[in-house]
Amino acid sequence: MNLHEYQAKEIFARYGIPVPQGQLAESPEAARAAAKQLGGERFVVKAQVHAGGRGKAGGVKLVEGYDAVEEAAKKMLGQRLVTKQTGAEGLPINSVWIEKPSAIARELYVSALVDRSRERIVFMASAAGGMDIEEVAAHTPERIKHVYVHPAAGLQPYQARQLGFFMGLTKAQVDQFTRILMGLYRIFTELDAALVEINPLIVTADGDVMALDAKLNFDSNALFRQKAIAEMRDFSQEDEREREASKYDLNYVTLDGDIGCMVNGAGLAMATMDIVKLHGGRPANFLDVGGGTTAEKVTEAFKLITKSPDVKAIFINIFGGIVRCDLIAEGIIQACRQVGLKIPVVARLQGTNMDKGREMLKASGLAITPVEDLTEAAKTVVALAKGA
Ligand code: GDP
Ligand code: MN
Repeated sequence: MNLHEYQAKEIFARYGIPVPQGQLAESPEAARAAAKQLGGERFVVKAQVHAGGRGKAGGVKLVEGYDAVEEAAKKMLGQRLVTKQTGAEGLPINSVWIEKPSAIARELYVSALVDRSRERIVFMASAAGGMDIEEVAAHTPERIKHVYVHPAAGLQPYQARQLGFFMGLTKAQVDQFTRILMGLYRIFTELDAALVEINPLIVTADGDVMALDAKLNFDSNALFRQKAIAEMRDFSQEDEREREASKYDLNYVTLDGDIGCMVNGAGLAMATMDIVKLHGGRPANFLDVGGGTTAEKVTEAFKLITKSPDVKAIFINIFGGIVRCDLIAEGIIQACRQVGLKIPVVARLQGTNMDKGREMLKASGLAITPVEDLTEAAKTVVALAKGA
């Protein structure tokens, strides 16, 4: 679960991490009032959406005077912001954060997440802040330094100092940076975070270290014990298809490929995505329709998959253990007719009543290719998606 920048900055402030002064506004008038309260001549107007890359997309504006604040807020509010991180539909801007501008001398980068292979929290820092950290990681990985936190010892100040000196901070700045990092570590562990990121962490013209941006992501499985965090959730920023899926009790995650996958069982769904990738394809989603699925659920799942314009072919991989293959076939046929399907479907049905299911698919006259072998099925759907 993600938070908005302004929410993350509130948490930062609580944990002693310096952030610029700011105020939230949900209307242009409120934005003006916020600027007046903050005082001064110049302001930063920042669109609040659950994505980075706002600066380059027009979601961060440095302006002068109250009129300009109101104007900038008016332009942003009610719009959808499309950034490198959002996909083509973008995310709705329902609020803006009005901030006192900072004079920037340097833009640094710092983040923390769990390195699962090492089973430790890792802190990463780089002097190449403010830009695409993925680019830095891909082309100049030596510009990013990692330190791994021993779970029993916790983050040690000397580790923070290592990162600080690596980024070329002065001794006084390293002391500030160490306090920031210790705060981040407390946030990470006390609030069950999955990712904390500050990009850019700035050195101001006065030589102080401060968080100019803030990103916090939390472990959804821990939200039951993080009530205050759970209450800050903004559903307007979450994937519509994922929300729709949860209504029908379908485990669905949007991905960025072009092969729609419909599978029963989470393990089989993972294996299906793996085999699609192995044969050069890219899954458009993860979808587990569940063990005891029904024809209705299959229909809803189909609608969900075909809602995405990127999907070029559909791969159905069902093991009829609890559920019967003929029931699944019925759902598939029903769904194909209802959505007026125009893209090819590869269906692999195995298990109870599989022959009957396959017969039904064949007899339907729809563009469904039944394939028995999993590898064969994966290769077929990858070829169909590429041909489309
Ligand atoms: P993001 O693009 O979504 O990551 O949004 P950021 O909060 O990181 O802002 C993007 C960029 O806008 C930063 O890297 C800065 O270069 C610039 N920016 C943001 N706030 C300020 C500010 O107060 N003063 C100045 N001079 N630049 C700012
Ligand atoms: Mn940023």
